Amino acid sequence: MKTYFKPPVSSWRQLCERPVTAGDNIGATIATVFEAVQKDGDKALLAFTKQFDGITIKRLEISQRQISEWAKQTPANLKQAIKIAYANITAFHAAQTVGLTNIEVETMPGVRCWRETRAISRVGLYVPGGSAPLFSTVLMLGVPAQLAGCQEVVLCTPPASDGSINPAICYAAGLVGINRIFRIGGAQAIAALACGTTSLPKVDKIFGPGNQYVTAAKMYAFSQGVAIDMPAGPSELMVLADSSANCSFIAADLLSQAEHGPDSQVILVCTASAIANSVGAEVARQLETLPRKTIAEQALKNSFCVVLDDDSKALEFANKYAPEHLILAVANPKKTARLVTNAGSVFLGNYAPEAAGDYASGTNHTLPTNGWARVCSGLSVDSFCKDISFQSITKNGAKALATTVMAMAEAEGLEAHKRAIEIRL
Ligand SMILES: [Zn+2]
Repeated sequence: MKTYFKPPVSSWRQLCERPVTAGDNIGATIATVFEAVQKDGDKALLAFTKQFDGITIKRLEISQRQISEWAKQTPANLKQAIKIAYANITAFHAAQTVGLTNIEVETMPGVRCWRETRAISRVGLYVPGGSAPLFSTVLMLGVPAQLAGCQEVVLCTPPASDGSINPAICYAAGLVGINRIFRIGGAQAIAALACGTTSLPKVDKIFGPGNQYVTAAKMYAFSQGVAIDMPAGPSELMVLADSSANCSFIAADLLSQAEHGPDSQVILVCTASAIANSVGAEVARQLETLPRKTIAEQALKNSFCVVLDDDSKALEFANKYAPEHLILAVANPKKTARLVTNAGSVFLGNYAPEAAGDYASGTNHTLPTNGWARVCSGLSVDSFCKDISFQSITKNGAKALATTVMAMAEAEGLEAHKRAIEIRL
């Protein structure tokens, strides 16, 4: 990992820029996929699955019987682990549904305003498959959808070469109450959810991570009027460390994030060269025995250490970067945490590895990347809901508002508005 020693503030902006992933012709490919799916529906989906994934399938939707058969093949210890993760994620997310939206406010005598939450009716969840079937993502997307009470929840995931779906994905889907699973992946899955076909329902909002094709397809779907969770970029981890940190722990955390993909970025921010040096040595040592060494190595090329003057400069840098994940490996993490203004998810202290949040501590692992943490939150029950505002106005309330509304309507030249009040007086 490259080390920047006390870089001047003027260079921070450039340091905080994410590595660019080339995606030249993606736009054209995505448009073609959407056009074909709109025109030929299921036929196009089956053809793309053959063309892109080399898999021949006959039926996109998987039968209930088949889902439960595959789910049963999940090893018992993994089932137990998924159950505990499900319980923790549900406990944390359920606490969010005790909202403050129903507070009714009487703004003037006889004028009552309030908000109520409603679930988004139809949602589509995308779960990447292939070499690493992300059944943890089924929980992270499915639990908040279940708690929100979405009417229709469908899941798309690419099949293995024999057309099957990973047992743990089927098992996790059962826990979160999803019974419609479609074996379809990539941009064509997103197009199917956005457009709807004979087999797949059109949804109101699409959720889930994916490669650059999936992300580009989600952006395209958004331009076609279908909502998406957030623009997902390569994963990121920043570790903020002081002399109290355990360098082996930090190295393990950096590598755990680096193994996500060759385009992941991991960053160490510290206040002493000694920390940077020993973390660097530990990373090199631990990397040797990693099964996903090649991927992690590539990610480390996009990664770096920054040594800064003091804790406050380090924190300033972290807030400027706005990491998806931020580990505070410092002596007083609670104090530091209060000063964090931009981050997707924060992990406090030497015993809160990012891996815990990826799977089972309870927080969501779908988080804003690429600096979006400056303005966006991670996924929550709210992402599957919207709030509707209500008002109830009595005759006296209308009288109380009349002069105000009429004066404003008149000044804006909207006579019909003025009259709509006048007629009631
Ligand atoms: Zn991770």
